[in-house]
Amino acid sequence: MNIQWFPGHMAKTRRQIEEKLKLIDVVVEILDARIPVSSQNPDISEMTKGKPRVAVLNKADLADETVTKQWVSFYKQNNVEVTLADCAKGRGINESVAAVKRALAEKLSNDSEKGMNRAIKILVAGVPNVGKSSYINRLSGNRRAAVGDRPGVTRGQQWIRLKNGIELLDTPGILWPKFEDETVGLHLAFTGSIKDEIIDTELLACKLAEFLNQNYRELFCARYKLENTEGLQGFELVELLGRKRGFVVSGGEIDLLRASNILLDEFRAGKIGRISLEKPEDLEVSVQ
Ligand code: GDP
Repeated sequence: MNIQWFPGHMAKTRRQIEEKLKLIDVVVEILDARIPVSSQNPDISEMTKGKPRVAVLNKADLADETVTKQWVSFYKQNNVEVTLADCAKGRGINESVAAVKRALAEKLSNDSEKGMNRAIKILVAGVPNVGKSSYINRLSGNRRAAVGDRPGVTRGQQWIRLKNGIELLDTPGILWPKFEDETVGLHLAFTGSIKDEIIDTELLACKLAEFLNQNYRELFCARYKLENTEGLQGFELVELLGRKRGFVVSGGEIDLLRASNILLDEFRAGKIGRISLEKPEDLEVSVQ
């Protein structure tokens, strides 16, 4: 997906989300477990004011389990309902439904006191590539059944009615990522959420190599059969791994672009190991 987030587009998206919010009870915000801060839309809390939210840390299969546990405690301390998921394999979906019900506990008990038994209406939202469509597909599964247009919703908008008293909008709210912070941009690029063209591939790979060598040296060195990498700079690391893989061009130089692409592809596919790029302890801005 290649979305250009120019201001007009952002304003339109914001209006669309605000329009949808009127119709729903709860927002399920899909985040990338490896980068929970960078994959969070900066304006989500302002936009969803008053609406309960559930954070789903998706792609948990690719993230460092220890760090993910820290994030879960962190969100809980901040009174955010949080669950983990691997939507590629369909893990954590039922847990997210339980979290939705917890987030709406008060409303559900008020409703039942009044003898009402309304469906819970969900909007799934998140920045591009975090797994929104995968989540919707997993949640709806074979039970998927569109129940028709509702007034006030963008034309063509469908509700999917699930067995467990839940209805969800079949198209997710696509949110824009943060732009202002360089680290956020890098993290989104490392994970493949924004296109490589935005940042030079070799530079990106050097930055990733440096991060891995500082934070996950064992995994990094094991994958590329490297030794004594402490203190090496990014380009030295990429060059080394290119040499190990035999990416030599005429004159004995290393094909850095090829080595860079390998590193980025293997990182994104989880082949280096389970790696988290952000930890609660590095947090400067609080999660909204
Ligand atoms: P969307 O743009 O937010 O709708 O994201 P998609 O649902 O299209 O997912 C983007 C990519 O991430 C796809 O290649 C998915 O297969 C992959 N993906 C989604 N969820 C997971 C997950 O939990 N784990 C892994 N490893 N990949 C996932």
